[in-house]
Amino acid sequence: MDNGYKICRKCESKLLTKTTYELDSTKVGKVRVYNVEYEYCQKCNIDYIPVDVFNKWKELERHLILNALAKRLNNIEDINTQYMSSKEFANLLDISERKLLGKSINMKLLHNAVYSIVLFGHRYYLRESVAKFVTSGNGIFLLT
Ligand SMILES: [Zn+2]
Repeated sequence: MDNGYKICRKCESKLLTKTTYELDSTKVGKVRVYNVEYEYCQKCNIDYIPVDVFNKWKELERHLILNALAKRLNNIEDINTQYMSSKEFANLLDISERKLLGKSINMKLLHNAVYSIVLFGHRYYLRESVAKFVTSGNGIFLLT
């Protein structure tokens, strides 16, 4: 029987509605999405996040990452001091540039572990991120 409200799967309490979703990002810190709707259980302290709300959060995170990366470019010379070209990064990894920019699963994983930005149609890699990636296998750090 539908009595007009949703109940918690764990404790069967009536769920309440929230309209702001906030979650910490390892890349840009707190990311807050407004004007969304999801249920939560006050008693269990559980959020029931629908996929579309999480996707909005991911999209906003991506936007904030690009903003943070763009902020590291104050002038045209910064492209070479703050970033390296795909050719330079490929040389460093001892692989071809074509392989680096290809769509293999390994390269997708690599691109998730290193910050990069597309400028004038070319991909550039953040030097600080590359340095961390080369030593630890993970070039992701808090940008803000
Ligand atoms: Zn509950």
